[in-house]
Amino acid sequence: MTENSEVAELFSNYVIPNYARKPIAFVRGKGTRVWDSSGKVYLDFLGGIAVQGAGHCHPEITKAIQAQAERLVHVSNLYWTENQGLLARELSGLSLKGKCFFCNSGAEANEALIKLARYWGREKGKFEIVSMKNSFHGRTLATLSATGQAKVQAGFEPLAPGFVYADFNNLASVRDAVTEHTAAVLVEAVQGEGGVIPAQPDFMKGLRELCDEKGILLLCDEIQCGMGRTGSWFGFQAYGIEPDAISLAKGLGNGFPIGAIVTKPGLSDVLQPGTHGSTFGGTPLACAAALATISVIRGEKLVERAAAAGEKFQSPLKAMVGKHAHLAEVRGAGLMVGLVLDQPAKDLADKLVDMGLLCLATAGNVIRFLPPLNVKDSEIEDALDIINDAFDEWNGTAAPEEEAKPADA
Ligand SMILES: *Cc1c(COP(=O)(O)O)cnc(C)c1O
Repeated sequence: MTENSEVAELFSNYVIPNYARKPIAFVRGKGTRVWDSSGKVYLDFLGGIAVQGAGHCHPEITKAIQAQAERLVHVSNLYWTENQGLLARELSGLSLKGKCFFCNSGAEANEALIKLARYWGREKGKFEIVSMKNSFHGRTLATLSATGQAKVQAGFEPLAPGFVYADFNNLASVRDAVTEHTAAVLVEAVQGEGGVIPAQPDFMKGLRELCDEKGILLLCDEIQCGMGRTGSWFGFQAYGIEPDAISLAKGLGNGFPIGAIVTKPGLSDVLQPGTHGSTFGGTPLACAAALATISVIRGEKLVERAAAAGEKFQSPLKAMVGKHAHLAEVRGAGLMVGLVLDQPAKDLADKLVDMGLLCLATAGNVIRFLPPLNVKDSEIEDALDIINDAFDEWNGTAAPEEEAKPADA
Protein backbone atom coordinates (compact mmCIF):
# COMPACT_ATOMS: atom_id res chain seq x y z
CA MET A 1 0.00 0.00 0.00
CA THR A 2 1.37 3.37 -1.00
CA GLU A 3 1.68 5.65 2.00
CA ASN A 4 0.15 9.13 1.98
CA SER A 5 3.59 10.74 2.06
CA GLU A 6 4.60 9.02 -1.18
CA VAL A 7 1.37 10.11 -2.83
CA ALA A 8 1.94 13.63 -1.52
CA GLU A 9 5.34 13.65 -3.21
CA LEU A 10 3.89 12.46 -6.52
CA PHE A 11 1.31 15.23 -6.42
CA SER A 12 3.74 17.93 -5.42
CA ASN A 13 6.17 16.94 -8.18
CA TYR A 14 3.88 16.01 -11.04
CA VAL A 15 0.30 17.25 -10.64
CA ILE A 16 -0.62 20.86 -11.41
CA PRO A 17 -1.71 22.39 -8.09
CA ASN A 18 -5.02 23.88 -9.29
CA TYR A 19 -6.97 22.27 -6.42
CA ALA A 20 -6.67 22.86 -2.68
CA ARG A 21 -6.54 19.13 -1.92
CA LYS A 22 -6.77 17.64 1.53
CA PRO A 23 -3.81 15.38 2.34
CA ILE A 24 -5.85 12.18 2.22
CA ALA A 25 -5.33 9.43 -0.37
CA PHE A 26 -8.46 7.38 -0.91
CA VAL A 27 -8.13 3.79 -2.01
CA ARG A 28 -11.55 2.11 -1.76
CA GLY A 29 -15.26 2.89 -1.52
CA LYS A 30 -18.46 0.97 -0.79
CA GLY A 31 -21.88 2.58 -0.48
CA THR A 32 -21.57 5.68 1.71
CA ARG A 33 -18.12 4.70 3.01
CA VAL A 34 -14.62 5.38 1.69
CA TRP A 35 -11.27 4.23 3.06
CA ASP A 36 -7.96 6.06 2.93
CA SER A 37 -4.53 4.52 2.51
CA SER A 38 -4.03 4.26 6.28
CA GLY A 39 -7.26 2.28 6.63
CA LYS A 40 -9.28 5.11 8.16
CA VAL A 41 -12.94 4.96 7.16
CA TYR A 42 -15.02 8.04 6.33
CA LEU A 43 -18.73 8.59 5.86
CA ASP A 44 -18.92 10.16 2.44
CA PHE A 45 -21.51 12.92 2.76
CA LEU A 46 -20.03 14.69 -0.25
CA GLY A 47 -20.48 11.84 -2.71
CA GLY A 48 -17.64 13.01 -4.93
CA ILE A 49 -19.51 16.36 -5.21
CA ALA A 50 -23.00 15.04 -6.03
CA VAL A 51 -21.66 12.29 -8.28
CA GLN A 52 -22.13 9.08 -6.27
CA GLY A 53 -25.94 9.12 -6.17
CA ALA A 54 -26.09 5.34 -5.98
CA GLY A 55 -23.13 5.15 -3.59
CA HIS A 56 -19.58 3.97 -4.24
CA CYS A 57 -19.05 0.89 -6.39
CA HIS A 58 -22.69 -0.13 -6.60
CA PRO A 59 -22.52 -3.79 -7.66
CA GLU A 60 -25.05 -3.47 -10.52
CA ILE A 61 -23.26 -0.47 -12.00
CA THR A 62 -19.85 -2.10 -11.58
CA LYS A 63 -21.17 -5.22 -13.33
CA ALA A 64 -22.61 -3.18 -16.21
CA ILE A 65 -19.29 -1.36 -16.71
CA GLN A 66 -17.35 -4.64 -16.60
CA ALA A 67 -19.66 -6.39 -19.07
CA GLN A 68 -19.61 -3.49 -21.53
CA ALA A 69 -15.83 -3.11 -21.22
CA GLU A 70 -15.50 -6.68 -22.48
CA ARG A 71 -17.78 -6.05 -25.51
CA LEU A 72 -17.16 -2.57 -26.94
CA VAL A 73 -15.71 0.57 -25.36
CA HIS A 74 -15.70 3.18 -28.13
CA VAL A 75 -16.31 3.49 -31.86
CA SER A 76 -16.92 7.28 -32.25
CA ASN A 77 -20.10 9.11 -33.14
CA LEU A 78 -19.74 8.28 -36.82
CA TYR A 79 -21.93 5.26 -36.12
CA TRP A 80 -24.90 4.12 -34.08
CA THR A 81 -24.47 2.32 -30.81
CA GLU A 82 -27.49 0.85 -29.09
CA ASN A 83 -26.61 2.05 -25.59
CA GLN A 84 -26.58 5.72 -26.63
CA GLY A 85 -30.02 5.35 -28.17
CA LEU A 86 -31.36 3.53 -25.11
CA LEU A 87 -29.95 6.16 -22.75
CA ALA A 88 -31.39 9.00 -24.86
CA ARG A 89 -34.82 7.33 -24.71
CA GLU A 90 -34.56 7.01 -20.92
CA LEU A 91 -33.51 10.63 -20.33
CA SER A 92 -36.08 11.95 -22.78
CA GLY A 93 -38.88 9.99 -21.12
CA LEU A 94 -37.82 11.13 -17.64
CA SER A 95 -37.62 14.81 -18.56
CA LEU A 96 -38.46 16.90 -21.62
CA LYS A 97 -39.54 14.26 -24.19
CA GLY A 98 -37.25 15.61 -26.92
CA LYS A 99 -33.79 14.45 -28.02
CA CYS A 100 -30.37 14.24 -26.30
CA PHE A 101 -26.75 15.07 -27.05
CA PHE A 102 -23.97 13.35 -25.12
CA CYS A 103 -20.61 14.61 -23.89
CA ASN A 104 -18.28 13.97 -20.97
CA SER A 105 -18.67 16.61 -18.28
CA GLY A 106 -20.87 19.31 -16.89
CA ALA A 107 -19.00 22.17 -18.51
CA GLU A 108 -19.25 20.43 -21.84
CA ALA A 109 -22.99 19.91 -21.36
CA ASN A 110 -23.46 23.62 -20.64
CA GLU A 111 -21.34 24.46 -23.68
CA ALA A 112 -23.82 22.42 -25.69
CA LEU A 113 -26.75 24.33 -24.13
CA ILE A 114 -25.07 27.64 -24.96
CA LYS A 115 -24.33 26.59 -28.54
CA LEU A 116 -27.89 25.29 -28.91
CA ALA A 117 -29.29 28.64 -27.77
CA ARG A 118 -27.00 30.65 -30.05
CA TYR A 119 -27.67 28.48 -33.06
CA TRP A 120 -31.42 28.58 -32.37
CA GLY A 121 -31.29 32.37 -32.14
CA ARG A 122 -28.83 33.08 -34.97
CA GLU A 123 -31.34 34.26 -37.55
CA LYS A 124 -33.29 36.35 -35.05
CA GLY A 125 -30.20 38.24 -33.86
CA LYS A 126 -30.51 36.55 -30.47
CA PHE A 127 -27.28 35.35 -28.90
CA GLU A 128 -27.09 36.66 -25.35
CA ILE A 129 -27.48 34.36 -22.36
CA VAL A 130 -28.79 35.77 -19.10
CA SER A 131 -27.35 33.79 -16.19
CA MET A 132 -27.58 34.35 -12.47
CA LYS A 133 -25.15 35.97 -10.08
CA ASN A 134 -23.69 33.43 -7.69
CA SER A 135 -24.30 30.64 -10.22
CA PHE A 136 -21.85 27.95 -11.24
CA HIS A 137 -21.77 26.55 -14.75
CA GLY A 138 -18.23 25.25 -15.24
CA ARG A 139 -14.60 26.09 -15.92
CA THR A 140 -14.29 26.27 -19.70
CA LEU A 141 -14.06 29.74 -21.15
CA ALA A 142 -17.72 29.97 -22.17
CA THR A 143 -19.04 28.34 -19.00
CA LEU A 144 -16.91 30.44 -16.66
CA SER A 145 -18.20 33.43 -18.58
CA ALA A 146 -21.73 32.17 -17.85
CA THR A 147 -20.80 31.69 -14.19
CA GLY A 148 -21.86 34.79 -12.26
CA GLN A 149 -18.92 34.78 -9.84
CA ALA A 150 -15.90 37.06 -10.11
CA LYS A 151 -13.67 34.57 -8.27
CA VAL A 152 -14.17 31.99 -11.04
CA GLN A 153 -13.44 34.53 -13.79
CA ALA A 154 -10.59 36.50 -12.24
CA GLY A 155 -7.42 36.39 -14.31
CA PHE A 156 -8.99 34.70 -17.33
CA GLU A 157 -10.24 37.82 -19.06
CA PRO A 158 -11.24 38.64 -21.67
CA LEU A 159 -14.36 36.60 -21.00
CA ALA A 160 -16.45 35.16 -23.79
CA PRO A 161 -18.87 37.86 -24.93
CA GLY A 162 -22.63 37.48 -24.84
CA PHE A 163 -23.22 36.79 -21.15
CA VAL A 164 -25.14 39.08 -18.80
CA TYR A 165 -25.99 38.48 -15.17
CA ALA A 166 -29.15 38.92 -13.14
CA ASP A 167 -29.93 38.43 -9.46
CA PHE A 168 -31.05 34.91 -8.54
CA ASN A 169 -34.57 34.82 -7.08
CA ASN A 170 -35.24 38.32 -8.39
CA LEU A 171 -37.55 38.22 -11.39
CA ALA A 172 -37.44 41.98 -11.99
CA SER A 173 -33.66 41.78 -12.29
CA VAL A 174 -33.94 39.06 -14.96
CA ARG A 175 -36.59 41.04 -16.79
CA ASP A 176 -34.25 44.06 -16.80
CA ALA A 177 -31.40 41.94 -18.19
CA VAL A 178 -33.42 40.58 -21.12
CA THR A 179 -32.98 42.53 -24.37
CA GLU A 180 -33.88 41.99 -28.02
CA HIS A 181 -30.57 40.11 -28.26
CA THR A 182 -31.36 37.64 -25.49
CA ALA A 183 -31.54 34.02 -26.65
CA ALA A 184 -31.93 32.28 -23.30
CA VAL A 185 -32.06 32.44 -19.54
CA LEU A 186 -29.83 29.90 -17.77
CA VAL A 187 -30.58 28.92 -14.16
CA GLU A 188 -29.97 26.23 -11.53
CA ALA A 189 -33.12 25.10 -9.68
CA VAL A 190 -30.91 24.89 -6.60
CA GLN A 191 -27.64 26.82 -6.74
CA GLY A 192 -25.05 24.32 -5.53
CA GLU A 193 -21.58 25.77 -5.53
CA GLY A 194 -23.17 29.16 -4.82
CA GLY A 195 -24.19 27.94 -1.36
CA VAL A 196 -27.12 25.48 -1.70
CA ILE A 197 -29.78 28.09 -2.44
CA PRO A 198 -33.10 26.81 -3.81
CA ALA A 199 -34.92 28.91 -6.39
CA GLN A 200 -38.18 30.28 -5.03
CA PRO A 201 -41.31 28.82 -6.66
CA ASP A 202 -42.51 32.22 -7.90
CA PHE A 203 -39.11 32.89 -9.42
CA MET A 204 -39.03 29.68 -11.48
CA LYS A 205 -42.66 30.11 -12.57
CA GLY A 206 -41.97 33.75 -13.40
CA LEU A 207 -38.91 32.80 -15.47
CA ARG A 208 -41.00 30.40 -17.52
CA GLU A 209 -43.64 33.07 -18.12
CA LEU A 210 -41.02 35.70 -18.94
CA CYS A 211 -39.29 33.40 -21.45
CA ASP A 212 -42.64 32.55 -23.07
CA GLU A 213 -43.57 36.21 -23.25
CA LYS A 214 -40.25 37.16 -24.87
CA GLY A 215 -40.07 34.08 -27.08
CA ILE A 216 -36.72 32.98 -25.63
CA LEU A 217 -35.39 29.76 -24.14
CA LEU A 218 -35.33 28.70 -20.51
CA LEU A 219 -32.31 26.49 -19.84
CA CYS A 220 -31.87 24.61 -16.56
CA ASP A 221 -28.43 23.51 -15.41
CA GLU A 222 -29.36 20.24 -13.68
CA ILE A 223 -25.77 19.07 -13.37
CA GLN A 224 -25.73 19.11 -9.58
CA CYS A 225 -29.42 19.04 -8.64
CA GLY A 226 -30.53 16.48 -11.25
CA MET A 227 -30.69 12.67 -11.16
CA GLY A 228 -32.91 12.46 -8.10
CA ARG A 229 -30.84 14.45 -5.65
CA THR A 230 -33.49 16.99 -4.67
CA GLY A 231 -36.32 14.45 -4.34
CA SER A 232 -37.48 14.69 -7.97
CA TRP A 233 -35.66 13.25 -10.96
CA PHE A 234 -34.76 16.81 -11.93
CA GLY A 235 -34.75 19.99 -9.88
CA PHE A 236 -37.14 21.86 -12.19
CA GLN A 237 -39.85 19.25 -11.67
CA ALA A 238 -40.56 20.49 -8.15
CA TYR A 239 -41.69 23.81 -9.64
CA GLY A 240 -44.38 22.59 -12.02
CA ILE A 241 -42.63 24.15 -15.01
CA GLU A 242 -40.68 22.81 -17.97
CA PRO A 243 -37.50 24.39 -19.30
CA ASP A 244 -36.69 24.16 -23.01
CA ALA A 245 -33.50 22.21 -22.41
CA ILE A 246 -31.45 20.90 -19.49
CA SER A 247 -27.83 19.94 -18.90
CA LEU A 248 -26.78 16.85 -16.93
CA ALA A 249 -23.51 15.34 -15.72
CA LYS A 250 -22.35 14.70 -12.13
CA GLY A 251 -24.78 11.96 -10.95
CA LEU A 252 -25.57 10.65 -14.44
CA GLY A 253 -22.92 7.93 -14.53
CA ASN A 254 -22.40 7.45 -10.79
CA GLY A 255 -18.73 8.36 -11.27
CA PHE A 256 -18.22 7.24 -14.83
CA PRO A 257 -17.69 10.51 -16.78
CA ILE A 258 -20.69 11.42 -18.89
CA GLY A 259 -22.62 14.61 -19.62
CA ALA A 260 -25.75 15.23 -21.63
CA ILE A 261 -28.32 17.74 -22.69
CA VAL A 262 -31.99 16.94 -23.15
CA THR A 263 -34.24 19.23 -25.19
CA LYS A 264 -37.94 19.74 -25.67
CA PRO A 265 -39.22 18.29 -28.96
CA GLY A 266 -39.30 21.76 -30.56
CA LEU A 267 -35.52 22.09 -30.13
CA SER A 268 -34.61 18.50 -30.94
CA ASP A 269 -33.40 19.13 -34.47
CA VAL A 270 -31.74 22.54 -34.13
CA LEU A 271 -28.20 21.11 -34.07
CA GLN A 272 -27.70 19.51 -37.48
CA PRO A 273 -24.67 17.53 -38.75
CA GLY A 274 -21.48 19.55 -38.48
CA THR A 275 -22.69 22.00 -35.83
CA HIS A 276 -21.40 20.27 -32.71
CA GLY A 277 -19.65 17.15 -31.55
CA SER A 278 -17.50 15.34 -29.02
CA THR A 279 -15.23 12.39 -29.77
CA PHE A 280 -15.91 10.58 -26.51
CA GLY A 281 -19.52 11.72 -26.11
CA GLY A 282 -21.91 8.88 -25.31
CA THR A 283 -19.60 5.90 -25.76
CA PRO A 284 -21.20 2.49 -25.29
CA LEU A 285 -19.23 2.19 -22.04
CA ALA A 286 -20.30 5.55 -20.59
CA CYS A 287 -23.90 4.93 -21.61
CA ALA A 288 -23.82 1.46 -20.02
CA ALA A 289 -22.78 3.11 -16.75
CA ALA A 290 -25.54 5.72 -17.02
CA LEU A 291 -28.20 3.15 -18.01
CA ALA A 292 -27.24 1.05 -14.98
CA THR A 293 -27.29 4.15 -12.77
CA ILE A 294 -30.81 5.02 -13.91
CA SER A 295 -31.90 1.42 -13.44
CA VAL A 296 -30.60 1.47 -9.84
CA ILE A 297 -32.17 4.86 -9.07
CA ARG A 298 -35.51 3.59 -10.40
CA GLY A 299 -35.28 0.04 -9.00
CA GLU A 300 -34.28 1.14 -5.51
CA LYS A 301 -36.70 4.10 -5.57
CA LEU A 302 -33.85 6.48 -4.83
CA VAL A 303 -35.72 9.60 -5.91
CA GLU A 304 -38.29 8.98 -3.19
CA ARG A 305 -35.47 7.95 -0.89
CA ALA A 306 -33.68 11.28 -1.48
CA ALA A 307 -36.79 13.15 -0.37
CA ALA A 308 -37.33 10.99 2.73
CA ALA A 309 -33.65 10.82 3.69
CA GLY A 310 -33.34 14.55 3.07
CA GLU A 311 -36.09 15.12 5.60
CA LYS A 312 -34.44 12.72 8.09
CA PHE A 313 -31.17 14.60 7.74
CA GLN A 314 -32.47 18.15 7.47
CA SER A 315 -34.96 18.30 10.34
CA PRO A 316 -32.50 17.33 13.12
CA LEU A 317 -30.04 19.79 11.57
CA LYS A 318 -32.69 22.50 11.68
CA ALA A 319 -33.24 21.65 15.34
CA MET A 320 -29.54 22.46 15.93
CA VAL A 321 -30.09 26.07 14.88
CA GLY A 322 -30.21 28.08 18.10
CA LYS A 323 -28.55 25.25 20.00
CA HIS A 324 -25.12 25.70 18.44
CA ALA A 325 -23.43 29.05 18.25
CA HIS A 326 -22.64 30.24 14.73
CA LEU A 327 -25.17 27.94 13.01
CA ALA A 328 -27.46 30.41 11.29
CA GLU A 329 -29.61 28.36 8.94
CA VAL A 330 -30.13 24.97 7.29
CA ARG A 331 -31.37 24.96 3.72
CA GLY A 332 -31.57 22.78 0.67
CA ALA A 333 -33.76 20.27 -1.12
CA GLY A 334 -33.72 16.52 -0.56
CA LEU A 335 -30.13 15.37 -0.16
CA MET A 336 -28.63 18.65 -1.30
CA VAL A 337 -28.11 20.29 2.07
CA GLY A 338 -26.31 23.41 3.26
CA LEU A 339 -25.41 24.42 6.82
CA VAL A 340 -25.12 28.18 6.82
CA LEU A 341 -22.77 29.62 9.43
CA ASP A 342 -22.43 33.23 10.52
CA GLN A 343 -18.73 33.07 9.65
CA PRO A 344 -16.27 31.22 7.36
CA ALA A 345 -17.07 27.52 7.27
CA LYS A 346 -13.71 26.06 6.29
CA ASP A 347 -12.53 25.41 9.86
CA LEU A 348 -15.62 23.45 10.78
CA ALA A 349 -15.63 21.58 7.47
CA ASP A 350 -11.99 20.58 8.03
CA LYS A 351 -12.90 19.40 11.52
CA LEU A 352 -15.79 17.31 10.20
CA VAL A 353 -13.50 15.65 7.67
CA ASP A 354 -10.93 14.95 10.43
CA MET A 355 -13.75 13.38 12.44
CA GLY A 356 -14.58 11.12 9.49
CA LEU A 357 -17.41 12.96 7.74
CA LEU A 358 -16.67 14.15 4.20
CA CYS A 359 -18.27 17.49 3.32
CA LEU A 360 -17.23 20.73 1.67
CA ALA A 361 -17.16 24.40 2.61
CA THR A 362 -18.62 26.49 -0.18
CA ALA A 363 -19.54 30.12 -0.83
CA GLY A 364 -17.46 31.10 2.20
CA ASN A 365 -19.84 30.36 5.05
CA VAL A 366 -21.78 27.25 3.93
CA ILE A 367 -21.01 23.57 4.56
CA ARG A 368 -22.41 21.45 1.78
CA PHE A 369 -23.60 17.85 2.13
CA LEU A 370 -24.37 15.70 -0.94
CA PRO A 371 -24.53 12.10 0.34
CA PRO A 372 -25.51 9.09 -1.80
CA LEU A 373 -29.27 8.89 -2.30
CA ASN A 374 -29.26 5.40 -0.78
CA VAL A 375 -27.60 6.60 2.43
CA LYS A 376 -28.88 4.48 5.32
CA ASP A 377 -30.82 5.90 8.27
CA SER A 378 -28.04 4.68 10.59
CA GLU A 379 -25.48 6.56 8.50
CA ILE A 380 -27.56 9.72 8.73
CA GLU A 381 -27.67 9.28 12.51
CA ASP A 382 -23.91 8.76 12.64
CA ALA A 383 -23.37 11.89 10.56
CA LEU A 384 -25.68 13.90 12.83
CA ASP A 385 -23.71 12.70 15.88
CA ILE A 386 -20.44 13.78 14.27
CA ILE A 387 -21.91 17.18 13.36
CA ASN A 388 -23.21 17.67 16.90
CA ASP A 389 -19.85 16.72 18.41
CA ALA A 390 -17.97 18.95 15.99
CA PHE A 391 -20.13 21.95 16.91
CA ASP A 392 -19.64 21.16 20.61
CA GLU A 393 -15.86 21.17 20.22
CA TRP A 394 -15.73 24.12 17.85
CA ASN A 395 -16.65 27.49 19.19
CA GLY A 396 -16.08 29.36 16.01
CA THR A 397 -13.16 31.49 15.13
CA ALA A 398 -12.69 35.19 15.03
CA ALA A 399 -11.01 34.71 11.65
CA PRO A 400 -11.54 37.56 9.24
CA GLU A 401 -13.51 37.02 6.02
CA GLU A 402 -11.72 34.52 3.82
CA GLU A 403 -9.84 35.55 0.74
CA ALA A 404 -11.64 34.59 -2.46
CA LYS A 405 -10.73 30.94 -2.93
CA PRO A 406 -11.04 28.95 -6.12
CA ALA A 407 -14.38 27.13 -6.28
CA ASP A 408 -14.51 23.39 -5.90
CA ALA A 409 -15.01 22.20 -9.43
C1 LIG B 1 -20.19 20.87 -11.25
C2 LIG B 1 -21.11 21.74 -11.99
C3 LIG B 1 -20.83 22.14 -13.31
C4 LIG B 1 -19.53 21.78 -14.01
O1 LIG B 1 -19.42 20.41 -14.20
P1 LIG B 1 -17.98 19.79 -14.56
O2 LIG B 1 -18.27 18.33 -14.80
O3 LIG B 1 -17.08 20.03 -13.40
O4 LIG B 1 -17.51 20.47 -15.78
C5 LIG B 1 -21.75 22.94 -13.96
N1 LIG B 1 -22.89 23.31 -13.36
C6 LIG B 1 -23.20 22.94 -12.11
C7 LIG B 1 -24.50 23.37 -11.50
C8 LIG B 1 -22.31 22.15 -11.37
O5 LIG B 1 -22.60 21.81 -10.12
